[in-house]
Amino acid sequence: MGLNAFITDAELEGDAEGPLSGMRVAVKDNISTEGVRTTCGSAMLDDYVPPYDATVVERLKAAGATIVGKANMDEFGMGGTTETSAFGPAKNPVDEARVPGGSSGGSAAAVAGGEADLALGSDTGGSVRNPAAFCGVVGIKPTYGLVSRYGLVAYANSLEQIGPIANTVEDAAALLDVISGPDPRDATTQYGSAAGPDGADEGADEAHPAADSNYAAAADGDVDGTTIGVITDLLEGADERVVETFEAALSDLRAQGAETVEVSLDSVEHAVQAYYVIAMSEASSNLARFDGVRYGKSGGYEGNWNDAFARAREEGFGEEVKRRILLGTYALSAGYHDKYYKKAQDARAWVKRDFDEALDEADVLATPTMPVLPPELGESLDDPLQLYLMDANTVPVNLANLPAISVPAGEADGLPVGLQLIGPKFGEEAIVRAASAVED
Ligand code: GLN
Repeated sequence: MGLNAFITDAELEGDAEGPLSGMRVAVKDNISTEGVRTTCGSAMLDDYVPPYDATVVERLKAAGATIVGKANMDEFGMGGTTETSAFGPAKNPVDEARVPGGSSGGSAAAVAGGEADLALGSDTGGSVRNPAAFCGVVGIKPTYGLVSRYGLVAYANSLEQIGPIANTVEDAAALLDVISGPDPRDATTQYGSAAGPDGADEGADEAHPAADSNYAAAADGDVDGTTIGVITDLLEGADERVVETFEAALSDLRAQGAETVEVSLDSVEHAVQAYYVIAMSEASSNLARFDGVRYGKSGGYEGNWNDAFARAREEGFGEEVKRRILLGTYALSAGYHDKYYKKAQDARAWVKRDFDEALDEADVLATPTMPVLPPELGESLDDPLQLYLMDANTVPVNLANLPAISVPAGEADGLPVGLQLIGPKFGEEAIVRAASAVED
């Protein structure tokens, strides 16, 4: 079919019988797969074959899943439409003239188009929830530290998590049950009181929040008595058709016994700026390893190493990636560090505090996942700023390291609209429960 959802087709059978036996899973192409090329959507890694599996891939195999391919994505996760992929854009199965969202657009398109039952994406600033919303499927961005990032090619480490995409809330939650949990190879998943640097401490596994959770079982549709805080600040700039669909879904939740209250977070108007400064700063550092010597295509240039590095990076990276490396390097440079990077970190702390306060008043928070309907292919490429603003509702969650889910709320003009539910730290069960009521 012509969705261009996969960069590389594969047929990796699970190691055993397990909860995902018989399930076809698409894996975003920035998640390492032993022996199967992993391009990150970049010409730089066109022929890169990792020598090991990411932890989440090991867990998929152990759970009996069949990996059917490496899913198309914006280059290194930088974008919201999958149009910055060096392998051409993926298409939205609901309307092939439109983008599937991004950066995990191939993952969501594969699920929505029936080319996979489940998928993994990564979410640095919305890249699981955005394509889930645009393709009319479910996507979860877990709390930071719930899922191992070992083997995920880093874009912005402090913000990102691997997350599941599926046709139903229960299926997405079941995939989260498989991939979550502590990993001695990722220190951010270590919660044991006495976990050493290698995490070998016995108490560590039991102390992890995933140890006694059952996310799939939480999809019971019971919102009776749940308080849902609607973030009014994030409705203001949104497309009217999106807001109408969102409001209709909320009144449906009220009919099921939920209470909705309005909450306002003053900090969120600064979230996009803060996110892009932090994400680009981390990216400029992470992407330094792609120089044609350590990683990436060398081009085989003679001459001094500085020229060779520059040429490898000039040829291997696309325009958006270069823009971000330049801006990130600038924001971190000696004279400007306080003016940009430090300010962005202050804003990040403010966003976290605002969420904590709002979650004292409500069990979960709600917004439209995306403020707009899926754009047409080619429509948004020339205006990076417009694209960055599309992330207004998703990036605050990453700044605060909280969990969020996007669930289909209905359609406007025949196009899917996603509803985002945000929970407290490690409150995945609460957002799964509320989202399953939206589905009913
Ligand atoms: N659109 C955002 C960005 O370009 C989010 C990307 C992501 O979550 N990987 O940074």
